[in-house]
Amino acid sequence: MLKDSFGRTFPYIRLSITDVCNFKCGYCLPNGYQKDNSDNRKFLSAEEIGRLAKGLSELGVCKIRLTGGEPTVRKDFFDIIKILKNKTGIKKTVITTNGYRLDKIADQIAESGLDGINISIDSLNRETFKKVTSHDRLPEILKGIERLQKLNFKNIKINAVLLKGINDSEKDFNEWSSFIKSNEIDFRYIELMQTGDGLDYFRKYHVPAKIFINYLNNNDWVVQTLGRNAGPSKNYIHSSFKGKFGVIAPYSKDFCKSCNRLRITARGDLRLCLFGSTGISIRHLLQKDDQLEELKDLISKQLNFKKESHYLELGDTGLTKNLSTTGG
Ligand code: SAM
Ligand code: SF4
Repeated sequence: MLKDSFGRTFPYIRLSITDVCNFKCGYCLPNGYQKDNSDNRKFLSAEEIGRLAKGLSELGVCKIRLTGGEPTVRKDFFDIIKILKNKTGIKKTVITTNGYRLDKIADQIAESGLDGINISIDSLNRETFKKVTSHDRLPEILKGIERLQKLNFKNIKINAVLLKGINDSEKDFNEWSSFIKSNEIDFRYIELMQTGDGLDYFRKYHVPAKIFINYLNNNDWVVQTLGRNAGPSKNYIHSSFKGKFGVIAPYSKDFCKSCNRLRITARGDLRLCLFGSTGISIRHLLQKDDQLEELKDLISKQLNFKKESHYLELGDTGLTKNLSTTGG
């Protein structure tokens, strides 16, 4: 099992498969995706991803989350899932998506054997959704979710970034509450994180996750106790609700203590932290099947450089200009 010098283990990898995205979320790509002309390396191929996943699985990684950019824009998206599921030893393959064509691909997703899906929906209000993402896609996304449920697809989660004056009112919280009352779906608010490009947005819209935690406490939601390696979401349960609530509060004390994930960018750089300042390329070791041992050795050794905390509270955003390059 991959382990760092602070005793944290890493059974979970977030792998970005593209930087490209069709949405323009204000906190991520407010001007839409712009090609980085200083870096003409292509995104990892399905074959390279397969070799990477095999190496990771031999290092004890059991779960890979495909993210981006928007992972479903890749033409070979379902081929990649197939490779991960059948040829690598990885036990769980999940994705994070903006869901822009979920209504169209729900059946394929269910058939692919994907083990879970996180869908980003910042508001259940169509106008607000459009304001944040610049796309009027909420009805299609909700239709896609309904279809997945009809197909009995399990492990659907919805994430929203908590934004001051946009989706942080009691009314917003009540809307989500009604949504998960009868839906077996987990909904989580993520506290807005400052990124290299997003300082002004952060200053304007950041609100501490405490505001939502207070709502949960006042409405009889109970914290679910999970193990040390359960990841960064603090989950809440309620006996009258089918779904759960969750909060990801990256500025909270001890947030990094439960870190259980590493990140790999779409061009094959290993990132030890979402906000780290180091990122070595491992791509040269993904070219042939017989490089597996060297690949495993390099990744294991890199873990010694993982820092104890992200130091975000000091305004240190590391290499991360926006989260589309590291997959959020
Ligand atoms: N395009 C996909 C999506 O939006 O779900 C996957 C990539 S996106 C970068 C992954 C997650 O990061 C999304 O849930 C998004 O809301 C979140 N995210 C992006 N920028 C963020 C920021 N500055 N602070 C907090 N979360 C952010
Ligand atoms: Fe695209 Fe996701 Fe970033 Fe929104 S958060 S711009 S959907 S990559």
